[in-house]
Amino acid sequence: MNRAIYPGSFDPVTLGHLDIIKRASAIFDEVVVGILNNPQKSPLFSVEERVKILEEATADLPNVFIDCFSGMLVDYAKANDINVSIRGLRSISDFEYESQIAQYNDRLSNGKLETIFLVTSPEYSYISSSGVKEVAGFHGDITPYLPEFVADLVKEKYNYS
Ligand code: ADP
Repeated sequence: MNRAIYPGSFDPVTLGHLDIIKRASAIFDEVVVGILNNPQKSPLFSVEERVKILEEATADLPNVFIDCFSGMLVDYAKANDINVSIRGLRSISDFEYESQIAQYNDRLSNGKLETIFLVTSPEYSYISSSGVKEVAGFHGDITPYLPEFVADLVKEKYNYS
């Protein structure tokens, strides 16, 4: 069985992330969306909230599972029989950062964790969680970037509707 992980912060999950999740679920037997619990970041949504949001957003994809992890991705992957890490690529700057991470993970896993890049669909190429939060900070329209129920939850956090 080919199990893949799509790791990230997903704070919040965007239509760009969901496009990658959907496309990965058509390629792999199972896809685990791994929410990285990073104590150094102060997120908009807690890990528990993000798990619930992602579960709802991927409810129509039976081979997609949501989990969270702290520590190194290679350790989580090894413990869970996962041999592929999926990352999304939006731009050259994503590539520069992501290729380094992929090379670290290759070395750290002794070649047992392969990284596979899925190139963003053009309509989502400029969308990022941080961009969405910036717009929300100004009470702007975030509905084009997120599933409707996620947009409502983000607006609640920023006290507007
Ligand atoms: P991180 O905080 O580690 O960057 P994110 O949750 O922002 O995590 O992103 C997780 C992964 O999803 C990364 O590989 C990122 O490049 C990818 N990604 C983010 N937004 C998009 C998008 N709009 N289209 C395609 N891939 C994306």
